Parts: sequence; C-alpha cells; structure tokens
Amino acid sequence: MLTSVRLYNNKKVDAEYSKKDEKPFICPLCKEEVFLRKGLVRIHHFYHKQNSNCHFGEGESENHRLCKRQILNALQKEPAAINFDIERTELKTVIPDISGRIRDIPVVIEIQNSSIDIETIKYRTREYTRRGIYLLWILIWNDRLDSEKYNPRLWERYIHDLYKGRLYYWKEDLDVIPYHFGDYYFYREPEPYYDTSGEQHYPGSYYEFSKRYVTPIKGNVVNIVEGFLPFVRNYEKTDIFEFHNSILYSDNQNIWW
Ligand SMILES: [Zn+2]
Repeated sequence: MLTSVRLYNNKKVDAEYSKKDEKPFICPLCKEEVFLRKGLVRIHHFYHKQNSNCHFGEGESENHRLCKRQILNALQKEPAAINFDIERTELKTVIPDISGRIRDIPVVIEIQNSSIDIETIKYRTREYTRRGIYLLWILIWNDRLDSEKYNPRLWERYIHDLYKGRLYYWKEDLDVIPYHFGDYYFYREPEPYYDTSGEQHYPGSYYEFSKRYVTPIKGNVVNIVEGFLPFVRNYEKTDIFEFHNSILYSDNQNIWW
C-alpha cells in the first residue's frame, strides 16, 4: 500500500511524501497501525504488522508498487486524465489501485502480479460495473511473453478471455503491451516401428494442440490515456469460464492475430 491515514489529523497520506516522525499511521481498512518503509531503491510504502489479517496491500510486490507509482505519476501529468488517485477507500467494497476519469469516462486501473482467485476477479469486476466505472486490468510485463511458448496461469487466461482475447502488460509509464494468446501446438515425430511381418513403418509427423501452453501474439504498444475506449462485455459461458455483463476499458486496435 502506498497510502495510509495519519492519525494526528485523520488525513490520507502518501508514503512518497510522508516522514517516519509523522507516525502513527493507520490502515484505512482495518484501522490498525501500519508502518512506513522508505529506502533509496524500494518504492516507499506502508506495511502491516506480520500477523495482520488485513487484505489491504496484501500480495503487493515491489513491481506492483513500482507500476502503481509510475502510472499515477504519469497520469498526473496528462491533461486528459482528471482527478486520479491511488487506493481510494470511498467505494467501501473495493479499493481500486488507481482511479479517476479519462476525459469524461470514469476508469479504474487494477494491477495484478501475484496469484488471484477468479472469484475475486469476478467480484471486483461486478463492483465496478454496477457503479458505472470502466475497468482496465493490467499485469506486469515479463520476458517469457517474448518466447513462442507461454504457460499462463488460470486467472491470467480468465482476464484474457474477459477482454475477448486481449491482455495488457505494463511496460513503463502509461505504456502497456497487449497480447493475444494464440494456440500452441507441439510438433510430434513418432518413432518408426515394425509390424508383425517385419516391415518397417514411418508414421507421419503431426502437431498436437496444447491445453497448457499458448503462443503470445504481441499487439502494438498502447498508451493508457490515448489508446483505450469503453467496452461492453456481454454475458458468456464458455467451457471453462463464466463472464457476466460488465463494462471494461479496452484498447482500440483492430484484431492483430
Ligand atoms: Zn489493514
């Protein structure tokens, strides 16, 4: 978590602009004390005591915090991005990583890096949809996406399918790279064999569809402020997933795969 509440005046504070001697700091969700961590290399942030059960800030890696900080800083320089902030607590049932308006469109950016339950993805998507907020879910780019064989996690496939075959990976500032997961096939070349009459056979090679791996197909880099549009996602039940009617923020490129 990059923000907390300063007990002294009950005001939301940002770790970047806070000092340790301004403590105590309180978690806005569980109201327990949180602690400021500042360093030369790490992104300044607040953390709970180790035995805390609070979900706020849980599972946030250094990359997650870096992404949140960089996107916020970049948005705040954009005239078309209005009233952006991180970790707003007003919605009560969800704490968006980043929220504000792009021109006249209310937008939430959720950053996902660690493993997440698909039910949690559905819940958050529903919570933003019922409030009329367009959701942009982004992951953090990793170099395995540039190989021809990629093993996405199940929740990663879910978000990909939620956006009808697009998944956004953050690179830097406001730039994200959309990927489509294409099919992956294993090349199989069976061994020659002998039949009962002693004759040798050479079975032909073939391709076998992989359920586990995909071929990542990269789209053009898109800018969060310039390259996205509201997108209405209708209900759908597929072999593995179920999607509810939801409103999303999706890139404006034509299909590139
Ligand atoms: Zn807490």
